[in-house]
Amino acid sequence: MDLHAKTLTELKAGLEAGDFSSLELTEALLGRIEANDETLNAFITVMRDQALAAARRADEARAKGNGGALNGLPIVHKDIFCTQGIKTTCGSKMLDNFVSPYDATVVERLDAAGAVVLGKTNMDEFAMGSSNETSYFGPVKNPWDLARSPGGSSGGSAAAVAARLSPAATATDTGGSIRQPAALTNTVGFKPTYGRVSRYGMIAFASSLDQAGTITRSAADAALMLGVMAGFDERDSTSIDHAVPDYVAGLEGSLQGLRIGIVRQHFDAGLDEKTGAAVREALSVLESKGASLTEVDLPNLDYCVPTYYVVAPAECSSNLSRFDGVRFGHRAEDPEDLLDLYCRSRGEGFGAEVKRRIMTGTYVLSAGYYDAYYLQAQKVRQLISDDFRKAFEDVDVIAGPTTPTPAFKLGDKTDDPITMYLNDIYTIGANLAGLPAMSAPCGMVDGLPVGLHLVGPHWSEDRLLAVAHQYQQDTDWHTLAPEDFQ
Ligand code: GLN
Repeated sequence: MDLHAKTLTELKAGLEAGDFSSLELTEALLGRIEANDETLNAFITVMRDQALAAARRADEARAKGNGGALNGLPIVHKDIFCTQGIKTTCGSKMLDNFVSPYDATVVERLDAAGAVVLGKTNMDEFAMGSSNETSYFGPVKNPWDLARSPGGSSGGSAAAVAARLSPAATATDTGGSIRQPAALTNTVGFKPTYGRVSRYGMIAFASSLDQAGTITRSAADAALMLGVMAGFDERDSTSIDHAVPDYVAGLEGSLQGLRIGIVRQHFDAGLDEKTGAAVREALSVLESKGASLTEVDLPNLDYCVPTYYVVAPAECSSNLSRFDGVRFGHRAEDPEDLLDLYCRSRGEGFGAEVKRRIMTGTYVLSAGYYDAYYLQAQKVRQLISDDFRKAFEDVDVIAGPTTPTPAFKLGDKTDDPITMYLNDIYTIGANLAGLPAMSAPCGMVDGLPVGLHLVGPHWSEDRLLAVAHQYQQDTDWHTLAPEDFQ
């Protein structure tokens, strides 16, 4: 089997058995990236020299009997994670020339475990988008159909994993940006509990919603990555000191007696019929493995998207105020005075969607509107969290579709932000409530992948991974690769 066709778990076993070296593996994947990325546009930066050097170090460490849990295994980082000495753009012209003086905690931990970073992946500008079309570096193409979007904002990470350019990727999820692109590209997207993985060095979009996670080819691979990434970090004030279980060991948990909640509204008119049928079929597989299905009610579900589109822009308008053309980022040339410098630097550096969010956020936070919008949204957010808490008194996980439809055509939704925003209708609730959630491949509709969405109570990462892993023991959807990227 070609090396690129193997999963992270298989590659780990191969390296350990001495079947191939990290250098051979890294060279093979760099070659694949170079051959395919002009087509896919999944990368903003390819780190050839650094990757080869890291692979050599990993091979040397192994020869001496050393090396961490991911020693010599190639990965890619979403370009939202700061990497010392390597450009970090966040998909924006604003940071096109930004080289971070330090590493994000996620980057640091994966490095320390011996991972080999192949490059930094394309993304929607400042992670705002659901299609990768807001990137300053151009849209990413979906490897399953190049005319379609891979989803967003972590579209580059998802496309790179789906096209077998990297076995695993880091990504971030504020409203669905890991799970939605995973669903649209037939990959596994995992978003942990808020506070599980450090946000230090991860460029902030909406700080109370942002969470780092993974895009991989299997649940077992996600468990391997998460075990390295998770854990308390004193440099992130919202990081939570909660023990990190052995996620890989937890994969073997049985589904016997598992109570799965189904939300009726998730299967309403908004859901594409064939997508719904694929998800129902996945649920019956889980049932056949001993799980039971019950209906649960999330009465405030309809308010998830509107609440998110008040809270997220409010936080982004505040977070993005640091990009003023003075300390770092794009700076306008020949300013007349300070105000002109601010206005033109921001005017030139940010794209249309980011500006739309900053304006919305500034509006909902302004005196006179704060109570009517921002405060109100915070109250509704609490109600949504309460709904989940109540539902989890009766069930262990909630399952449903990740997205309403399979991948849509590039350009199809760009003129209509509301339709674009509705793509995250099933995923946003988990962010508002800080819950762990994931998407796993569960079918094909007219040659396009469908994702099964699983949400659990806080800290139930191990349970979600076990459910998906057990599902993947009986199904092979997750093993399917796009025809041109086998
Ligand atoms: N698509 C959503 C948005 O545009 C979510 C993005 C994300 O999760 N980063 O805000």
